[in-house]
Amino acid sequence: MHSSMNNQANWQPPLSERVRNLKPSPTLAIDAKAKALKAQGADIINLSVGEPDFDTPDHIKEAAIKAIKDGFTKYTAVGGIPDLKKAIIEKMERDYGLTYSENAVMVSTGGKLALYNCMQAIIDPGDEVILPVPYWVSYPPMVELAGGVVRYLQTEPSNGFAIEPAAIAELLTSRTKAIILNSPSNPTGSVYSSENLKDIAELAVKHGFYVISDDIYDAIRFDGKGCENAASLFPEAKDRTLVINGVSKTYAMTGWRIGYLAGPEAVVKAATKIQSQNTSNPTSIAQKAAAAAIAGPQDCVRNMLKAFAERKDYLMQELPSIPALSCVEPKGAFYVFPDFSAYYGKKTPNNGREIDGSLAMADYLLDEARIAAVPGIAFGDDRFIRFSYAASLDTLKEGVKRLKKALAALS
Ligand SMILES: *Cc1c(COP(=O)(O)O)cnc(C)c1O
Repeated sequence: MHSSMNNQANWQPPLSERVRNLKPSPTLAIDAKAKALKAQGADIINLSVGEPDFDTPDHIKEAAIKAIKDGFTKYTAVGGIPDLKKAIIEKMERDYGLTYSENAVMVSTGGKLALYNCMQAIIDPGDEVILPVPYWVSYPPMVELAGGVVRYLQTEPSNGFAIEPAAIAELLTSRTKAIILNSPSNPTGSVYSSENLKDIAELAVKHGFYVISDDIYDAIRFDGKGCENAASLFPEAKDRTLVINGVSKTYAMTGWRIGYLAGPEAVVKAATKIQSQNTSNPTSIAQKAAAAAIAGPQDCVRNMLKAFAERKDYLMQELPSIPALSCVEPKGAFYVFPDFSAYYGKKTPNNGREIDGSLAMADYLLDEARIAAVPGIAFGDDRFIRFSYAASLDTLKEGVKRLKKALAALS
């Protein structure tokens, strides 16, 4: 027996190295702290959340209710039901001019799982994935959980966070497996230019790596230009492009958990094999709702876009008037990402604590101004703070007022 060797009082349940190395999502941590303060009665302006503040449109809910009433409540095909795949295929044709077969599409439990399963399907231990910084929080852990190594590519606000193809070329090795692009971007709101995307697509073909194109915000862009990605701009790159998308952001359906992967059949088949061993099919009812969303009338999307544009315009009218705060105008998604670094080194009015980075700044804003926002360090760049404008104009106005006051109080 081990009992003499195991000190029961000090016993800790052993965990895998994999999970011990994994960082919890920092954006969820801030959200949890804000919610806890709110539960205690604090008047919190929550600009930390990454989901639309609108309700899911009624015709989409009706499709789910009908699915339940029709008894559509059993397992479906692992990679999704035919009518949802058909809706996705038509969307890709309509918005991107790209043609996919049913076998080139996999529906998953959220875009997040489509990404995860896709990475599990293509990355071997030691493979390298190029990731522009600032990046969405979940990309590095997903690459690492697949055994991959992230090669970070710093981008700058001075040119709208564009990627220099020469900078990619510098990072290429024999182990380069993929680059992850997210345009419009969470957290920066930037959109890559057509030329920039095309250059990257050409490089992918030339050097033989994948473009993981996270197009989840493709419907939320303010320049009136249509959807674009590496495959639509450079057809030769279609077999190199792994498109990730979903209904969460476009249709205010974050809780329904439907996303998808579209790409070369071999990769989709491999990702579906992985999905068959983790979740099996995404929720049958939610799939019916997503089909109604993607194939149905799109005026709900236009209305949400109009509201986001109005809020973005308000913020871009106010934020530049705050001394020493610089902010690139977002071209899409629903985030602003101002540079706060000119305030670092200043001290808080109450306890004279130094603001030494984005974490301290976000903490100060939460404690003093009761604004919840996400520190840039979560996205790999400590200069910035991310504010979501998936909040009413009134909420944003109050937020701006509090932000101005809190920043002016620093010395
Ligand atoms: C929200 C989001 C996703 C996926 O969200 P799901 O709800 O899992 O579909 C993927 N990428 C980015 C950048 C996001 O912001």
